[in-house]
Amino acid sequence: MECIFCNIIDHKAEAEIIFEDEHVLSFLDIQPVNYGHVLVIPKTHYDNFLTVPKDELGKLIHATQFLAGVVKRSLNADGFNVISNNGNPAGQSVYHFHFHIIPRFNNDFTLKPKTKIYGSGTMPEYGNQIRSFISKYKDIYNG
Ligand code: 5GP
Ligand code: ZN
Repeated sequence: MECIFCNIIDHKAEAEIIFEDEHVLSFLDIQPVNYGHVLVIPKTHYDNFLTVPKDELGKLIHATQFLAGVVKRSLNADGFNVISNNGNPAGQSVYHFHFHIIPRFNNDFTLKPKTKIYGSGTMPEYGNQIRSFISKYKDIYNG
């Protein structure tokens, strides 16, 4: 399947590359939320957060932390968002896993969605529902 990010890795598509090592590539997002908005991707194709092997994810997070610091300092940003959109309702448009690093400046804009309030007694229900899957998936965590 054609993947724009794989094409960037293979130098078949252009990108403003910021950083590269054996496992990770980072380049400017073509449609930045703020100027200097950076993407960090694994050099191997994985669809989303759940399919990246943990060793690779460790390397990716390490690079993302380093690059977030570099972006913040180089652009004199006041803060930054590290975001990963997974699946269509979450806003994922490129199905090659990536972190966004978005430099933020005082009073630039708000990214906060409207929040909900748990109805009486429903918070433990959500807790139970999620916890019941922890034991089911524990092997993935330990593996
Ligand atoms: P997502 O929507 O999947 O979280 O993020 C995908 C990001 O990739 C978007 O912010 C989009 O602007 C960026 N993008 C899509 N195509 C290209 C491209 O060809 N080059 C670059 N540099 N960024 C791209
Ligand atoms: Zn890809």
